[in-house]
Amino acid sequence: MCLDCTTHGSDREQHSSTDDRETTSHSNWKRRSFLQATGVAAGTGTILGTQVDRAAASHTECDAADRWVEAANHSARDFGIDWIVIHVTAGAYQGALNTLTSSNSDVSSHYLVKNYDWTDGPSAGHVDQLVHHNRAAWHARYIANHRSIGIEHEWFDDNGISEACYESSAELVRCIADMHDIPLEFYTSNTCIQNESGGIIGHTHVPDGDCSSFHHGGRTCPYPDWDMDHFETLVKNGDNGGGGGDQFQDGDQVVTTTDLNGREQPCLNDDVVLTLPEGTQGEVMNGPEECDGITWWGLHVPTYNEWVWCSENYLAHA
Ligand SMILES: [Zn+2]
Repeated sequence: MCLDCTTHGSDREQHSSTDDRETTSHSNWKRRSFLQATGVAAGTGTILGTQVDRAAASHTECDAADRWVEAANHSARDFGIDWIVIHVTAGAYQGALNTLTSSNSDVSSHYLVKNYDWTDGPSAGHVDQLVHHNRAAWHARYIANHRSIGIEHEWFDDNGISEACYESSAELVRCIADMHDIPLEFYTSNTCIQNESGGIIGHTHVPDGDCSSFHHGGRTCPYPDWDMDHFETLVKNGDNGGGGGDQFQDGDQVVTTTDLNGREQPCLNDDVVLTLPEGTQGEVMNGPEECDGITWWGLHVPTYNEWVWCSENYLAHA
């Protein structure tokens, strides 16, 4: 979006922000099904203290998303999702979040990733989801909005992109690409996206409706600081997570290498039991299972007395 460089044309119409809220079975605990899957004798783990984490995660669609903050601006999609559009905000996190969620701004995005530790708000690498995938967010021009998921990254004044920001965004892109069968093709020049099979592209290189113009008011979002080649490497090296990606056996002691969602069952669509802070220790009790292109391990986490499934990509030997 770049906050100051986007026109949204026909996407300016107002929409109810609550018409696609998911109100289904997120509140149903399926602890028993996990225990059956593990074959482990049932402990009597308390769920007290995890309710807040669970509520906060109930609307997010990827493990990489830390928080759901609802945006006011979004539209019904006119096309399927084939693209992921990369943006930088040209403003600090808190102001960008306010703008992206405000009904008065005429902009929004599906995600906002925190880039700097030294600006107000959560730490670098924190991910907010603002719009559900099944809605078009208002981050580019019409044709791109309706074909893509838009990811904003905090950035301003040539302060660069932090590794924490790149890594969180790479995990997010892997999830989105898996979920919507988006090819991991990276585009770094003007592209008539209607004629391609999809991929990851910077905002400045997406067209208007008939590909007659790629002009974005002279702006260069997400460049020049965004390094798409480096980002591509991180996205394709899915086991990048600070030492994760190892193979484990029952009884192994493991530790989370990032803030990591623990799920009821080994798939991305299964409910989040709780988010394990980076450095949380657990014991491998079950697995591996394959789902959504991810290898999952069933863990017992003594700190919370919980049994959860976690992605191997962010687990290391303790
Ligand atoms: Zn942009």
